[in-house]
Amino acid sequence: ARTPFIAGNWKMNLDHLQAVAFVQKLQWTLKDAKHEDGSVEVGIFPPFTDIRTVQTLIDADKIPFSLGGQDLSTKDSGAYTGEVSGQFLAKLDCRYVIIGHSERREYHQESDEIVAAKVQAALRYGLVPVICVGETADDLEEFGASAVPVGQLRVALEGVPADADIVVAYEPVWAIGSGKAATPDQAQDVCAKLRAVVGESLGADAAARTRVLYGGSVKSANIASFMREPDVDGALVGGASLVVDEFAAIIRFQK
Ligand code: 13P
Repeated sequence: ARTPFIAGNWKMNLDHLQAVAFVQKLQWTLKDAKHEDGSVEVGIFPPFTDIRTVQTLIDADKIPFSLGGQDLSTKDSGAYTGEVSGQFLAKLDCRYVIIGHSERREYHQESDEIVAAKVQAALRYGLVPVICVGETADDLEEFGASAVPVGQLRVALEGVPADADIVVAYEPVWAIGSGKAATPDQAQDVCAKLRAVVGESLGADAAARTRVLYGGSVKSANIASFMREPDVDGALVGGASLVVDEFAAIIRFQK
């Protein structure tokens, strides 16, 4: 069985002092939640400047939070001003790294090939890539929902070994920050197709094991409807992950 994964992508929000207050309040809010059985994994993806702070605050004995970066360099080290290496993330106990978020693709011209190189960089340092794919509103009109994300994932998985630990996140661009989430049916349909791509690229074991998340206007009021779908294994949450009570309610739904 796949452990549900609720991941909070803070994007460019919360400085390191705000992060202290946020994580302390979140841990306090969740302190009575029975997570010890491992029935849900919670991921936090802060800005790079917060990661060390959040690392020192996470009390793994209380709540099994996992930490991750929002991006990484394709390179390992060297003269690449402003870049952050996967080895630095791994040293700070990051288990995950988001790759190919639509905001990186749009504002930083990240192509499918760059995304694939970043997936390789993550795997070199034992990080689990959270590979984001999704269609824009124009893509949806022109090609339907699944063609673009399926194509993006095929390229991202080129050269990935069959036993690699990866996470896939289906985030329709039109649903991000719009308050207009996909319907559970739409999410299920594309997530199932993405799982099939994992199967074609990495084999049946990987397809059965890999978690496929939905992202885009997830909140406490709709998380249950997504989690009931057989091929949706969790959520990548943006705005609602910045509100302690809302994020805690999304996590708690699982119980
Ligand atoms: P929202 O939850 O704010 O729509 O953002 C989703 C997202 O982009 C998570 O990576």
